[in-house]
Amino acid sequence: MSQLARALAGLDWADPRLIGCLPLYPPRELFHGFGLKPVVLWGLAEHVPALDKAAAHLQSYVCAVAQCASQAVLAGPGARLGRLFFYNACDTIRNLPEILLQGRAGGKPLELLRWHLPQTTAGQAEATDYFRGQAAALIGRLEQISQARFSPEAFMGSCRLYDQARQLLTQAQAALALGRLCLADFADVAMAGWFLPVEEHITLLDELLATAGPPPPASGPRVVLSGILPPPADLCRVLDEAGLRVTGLDVAALGRSYARRPAPMADAADYYLALFAGHAPCPTLLASAGRRFDHVVELCRRSQADGFIFVGEKFCEYEWFDMPLLFERLRGEGLRCLALEIAPGGGDGAAALANRVQAFAEMLAQPPAGEKS
Ligand code: SF4
Repeated sequence: MSQLARALAGLDWADPRLIGCLPLYPPRELFHGFGLKPVVLWGLAEHVPALDKAAAHLQSYVCAVAQCASQAVLAGPGARLGRLFFYNACDTIRNLPEILLQGRAGGKPLELLRWHLPQTTAGQAEATDYFRGQAAALIGRLEQISQARFSPEAFMGSCRLYDQARQLLTQAQAALALGRLCLADFADVAMAGWFLPVEEHITLLDELLATAGPPPPASGPRVVLSGILPPPADLCRVLDEAGLRVTGLDVAALGRSYARRPAPMADAADYYLALFAGHAPCPTLLASAGRRFDHVVELCRRSQADGFIFVGEKFCEYEWFDMPLLFERLRGEGLRCLALEIAPGGGDGAAALANRVQAFAEMLAQPPAGEKS
């Protein structure tokens, strides 16, 4: 059983302290500091057996991420979840809360918690005070739910724990880049963290790092992996077996989520203002879009990448719309690029995806045209 499956199996969805979160960058430290249990409902495609409930409420052209999260909240054990936290990201996520409320009609009541992240850049409207108001309103509601006042000490203690997990993830990513860990194991443990208490995730990451072997003598082609989610587990294994070395991660659920974090602060609004101001660029954080291409190019240079693999969620226009121009930039840097589409039911088909990854790995292993081997 994978660590992600184990984490999901251990969840008590009816626990009143549980808060389901969408999308990937919720204020987990804040929830944790109040003694609540945030889980981020992302990466469920291989753990949701059917999408019938989601299909009854969503158009067929909604991405698998949102479909699986909706199914998890509307059917099965997740239908006992009592609270959901949302913030504005893509259009799909902006419209999901009310749809899920409708879907729950007649079932267990669902409370929606939210804040709105201003997506203004320097020189545009000053939105700091607006965000402080959003943070204060959320904290006020959390005080009611937990029947405890906001504690700066507890908040900073939670920030330190999440920072510890972030540092371990960074170490594990470095071991992955050296070939000391395989992508399948790394991605499984990293993704399990979205569903585990941070303390348990730290233990799991320590255990993963203890399994890291010596670097293999020869390195295969180096690639940067990009997308909202890591490839499905089978495809991770295909990448591993093809000898590809993942030396950089531009995956929202992996590298983008832990690449940069501010030091713990007593004021939660200050902390999240700093966090989002310095966040790794992500198409779901619209204000960061202008920095994205330079960031990815720099990541590829630092990673000494030979290739760039984009694992795109079908219908995720936010990510796909970037790709033609990003690929052009990266090809100008001498990188070869591959786009793979993931969808419910297999998208391009697992076997076809595997063939394309193997062919790409073989191509990367060849010297570029015009060079003698
Ligand atoms: S950012 Fe893309 S993958 Fe994520 S919920 Fe929105 S459309 Fe789906």
